[in-house]
Amino acid sequence: MRFLQNYPRFLEIAYDVTHNLLRPFRRWLTRGGRVERFFVRVEKTSKGAIFNCRMCGQCVLHVTGMTCPMNCPKEMRNGPCGGVRPDGRCEIFPAKPCVWVQAWERSQHMPLYGSQMLNVLPPVNRSLHRSSAWINDFTGDAQKVPPGWLP
Ligand code: SF4
Repeated sequence: MRFLQNYPRFLEIAYDVTHNLLRPFRRWLTRGGRVERFFVRVEKTSKGAIFNCRMCGQCVLHVTGMTCPMNCPKEMRNGPCGGVRPDGRCEIFPAKPCVWVQAWERSQHMPLYGSQMLNVLPPVNRSLHRSSAWINDFTGDAQKVPPGWLP
């Protein structure tokens, strides 16, 4: 299913449709119960197959060219580390393309969310690891930033 990442336009539409479909049910999307367990299972399976999702619980796929930043060996959330090779490959694993080069290229094919690539993302909140990113999005937990953090 990884090939789907090469269709970022399709994926951003799928994201948008899912977001709009879930919004009316937001009051039932709560943490720590059966609903969350169900969402965790679905996200782990579906996003795992497509994006190699690491279940950070704070999904930023639509901001990062539908490319999961947690696949960067350094887990960079704001662009490449500076060690990216001239051929666009990873400093740590030279056989692999840099996640952020892919993210940038894919974002260029996303008219809805592509411009968000320029947003500065807060540090990932490790306490949300293995929780449902969709539920965290609707509860607002995904948008909370560490005290004192400024973009
Ligand atoms: S950003 Fe987080 S939730 Fe989204 S695909 Fe990557 S690890 Fe999974």
